[in-house]
Amino acid sequence: MRTFPISSIPRTREAVRHELRRRRVTVIGRQQLPAPLLRITLGGEDLAGFTSLGPEDHVKLFFTGPDGVVGRDYTPSEFRPLGASSGPELDIDFVVHGTDGPATAWASTAAEGDEIEFGGPRGSKLAPSGFRNAVLIADPSGLPALRRWIRAFDGEPSTRVLLFGGATPDYLDETEAGAAIVQVLEAGHDLLETVQAQDIDQDTFVWAAGESAALVPVRRHLKALGLPKPNLSLHGYWKRGEAGLDHHAPLDPSDPD
Ligand SMILES: Cc1cc2nc3c(=O)[nH]c(=O)nc-3n(C[C@H](O)[C@H](O)[C@H](O)COP(=O)(O)OP(=O)(O)OC[C@H]3O[C@@H](n4cnc5c(N)ncnc54)[C@H](O)[C@@H]3O)c2cc1C
Repeated sequence: MRTFPISSIPRTREAVRHELRRRRVTVIGRQQLPAPLLRITLGGEDLAGFTSLGPEDHVKLFFTGPDGVVGRDYTPSEFRPLGASSGPELDIDFVVHGTDGPATAWASTAAEGDEIEFGGPRGSKLAPSGFRNAVLIADPSGLPALRRWIRAFDGEPSTRVLLFGGATPDYLDETEAGAAIVQVLEAGHDLLETVQAQDIDQDTFVWAAGESAALVPVRRHLKALGLPKPNLSLHGYWKRGEAGLDHHAPLDPSDPD
């Protein structure tokens, strides 16, 4: 068998398309997770065939409010084709950040039997291979995806986790937390400085998700290191003071590349 030095393994990420369907599902469970997260479990026959293969997949949940229907993006935290309810089950882990937002308001009061519609994921980008190291950075909104990254990597590459903005490692189970070196930024610690202190090179994959403005300087720093595009996957999941952030918009408007 031919072997490659690790840095010459192609690092493109396989993309898989899924049938885009709108599904109507029912709340079948709710569980308080380490604050600020709350797990809502969705069930129902409409979940048949649901597929989510990528750690940063998202579904769009639809909420009806005074201004009509709005959509909000969430990570399918865990899907069980046959769960304890004897049917398919989908966990969505919501940051409860107040009542100032249709998604957080809905999750805060969601009760068994409530119905909701969602679409997606439209597609999945699979985890890359060929990296020696990974650095995963998340605030609470990124924790569900971060957990999926840890599970997708399954111990390889060697992984460091940086949690900021109140994200706590208690969200991870023992195996997940044990698969990475986890560093929690206390309030007042600068995310950029912490990232600058990391050993990040061409063999490092960096994924980050959380409050947009906090990630802009991190992105600038990582780009200044000259890391190739496949090494970076950085996403604003929400923006302070802005409702319904469009995550397809550039993270750093001054550098839309
Ligand atoms: C790909 C993707 C995956 C995501 N996965 C998850 C997930 O699994 N779990 C999750 O909780 N979020 C996730 N998010 C983030 C979520 O979509 C946003 O937080 C969304 O704005 C919440 O909608 P809302 O209706 O509660 O608030 P909005 O109506 O969007 O905003 C109302 C106000 O609340 C503020 N706000 C919004 N989100 C937060 C927050 N997290 N913390 C503090 N203040 C906030 C806004 O700045 C605004 O001032 C994801 C986002 C993306 C793009």
